[in-house]
Amino acid sequence: MPQQDVKLSIIIPVYNEELVLPMLFQELFPALTDLPCSYEVIFIDDGSHDRTKELLLGEASRQDKMVAVILGTNFGQHQAIVAGFSVARGDYVITIDADLQTPPQEILKIYNEMENGYDYVGSIRNERKDQLWRRAFSKLNNKIRERITNIHLTDQGCMLRGYHRRITELIVASQEAAPYLPALGYNFSSRPTEIVVEHQERQAGISKYSLYKLFRLNFDIMTAYSLLPLQFFSMLGMAVATISAGFFILLAVRRLFHGPEAEGVFTLFALVFFFMGICLFGLGLLGEYVGRIYAEVRKRPRYAIQTVFTKHKVASEAQHEHP
Ligand code: UDP
Ligand code: MG
Repeated sequence: MPQQDVKLSIIIPVYNEELVLPMLFQELFPALTDLPCSYEVIFIDDGSHDRTKELLLGEASRQDKMVAVILGTNFGQHQAIVAGFSVARGDYVITIDADLQTPPQEILKIYNEMENGYDYVGSIRNERKDQLWRRAFSKLNNKIRERITNIHLTDQGCMLRGYHRRITELIVASQEAAPYLPALGYNFSSRPTEIVVEHQERQAGISKYSLYKLFRLNFDIMTAYSLLPLQFFSMLGMAVATISAGFFILLAVRRLFHGPEAEGVFTLFALVFFFMGICLFGLGLLGEYVGRIYAEVRKRPRYAIQTVFTKHKVASEAQHEHP
C-alpha cells in the first residue's frame, strides 16, 4: 500500500500479554470503526515468551489493517515503540498500551486534537487506577522532572499519545540509547497540547514494571533532559567544604582556649556517615550519567526487527508450511 493510504498509525507495544490480548482485539477493532480516517494498527511483540506472538499472528490473519512486528528480544517498551515508528506509514502516529488501561475509544479524542493542528498530543489520566505507591511515585517524579527540566508534561507516564509523523521521524533518527518517548516527543514538538483521558485498571495480566524498572526509567528522563542533578552536587560540595572550613577554624580556636576535647565523638560519627551517604549518592548519580554515556558510545542497535507480518504474509507463510 502506498504511504498516503494511511492517515493514522496506532502503535501498541506488547510484552507477555497473552491474557489481555483477546480482550484487546475484541474492544479495539470495533472502536476503530468510528475513526473518520484510514488507519493501520501496528503491534510490536517485544520479545515475549508466552503465546503473545501466536495470538498476534492469529489476529493478523483476520485483520486487513493490522501489522505485527516481531522483535524477538525484549528491548523495552520505549524501544519497541520506536521500532513501531520505523514501520508506521501514517501522517499521525498514536501510541497506546495493550492492557486496556486507557480505553481504545480515547484514540479518537487524540486524533481530533491532531486534526486541530497540534503536532503532539499528550494525555492526563482522569482518576488514575493504579496502586497507591505507583501513583505516589509518579507524582514525585513528575514534580522533580517539572522542576529540573524544560519538559512540561502534566502526566508523563500516560503512554496514550499522538505524534505527528515529523516528530516520529526525528525520534527514529535520533538514535538515543534510552529514549523516554513522551519527553523526546515533547522536545521535538512545536505545537504541543494535552487532554484528559479515561483510565481504568489493567484488564488482565500484571504490570511489566517493577520498582527497579521504574527507577531506571525515571533516571533516563532526568539524566537525558537535565544536568541540574550533577550541578546540585558540585554546589553541595562547595557548600559542605565552606561549612567544614568554618568548623575547622572553630575547632582550632577551641583547641587553643579549651585544650584537647574528645566529647561529641558520636555526633561526629553521625555527621561522617551522613556525608558519606551523600558522597555515595553523588558518586552513584555520576555513574548514572557515565553509564548512559557508555551505552551511547557502544552504539548497539536499539532494536532489531525480526519479521513484519501482515495478513498477506501470515497467509503465505502458512501456505509455505503446509503446501
Ligand atoms: N511493554 C513492552 N515491553 C516491556 C514492558 C512493557 O512492550 O519491556 C508493554 C506492555 O505489554 C504494555 C505497555 O508496554 O502494553 C505498558 O506496560 P504495563 O501496562 O505493564 O505498564 P504500567 O501500566 O504498569 O506502567
Ligand atoms: Mg498498564
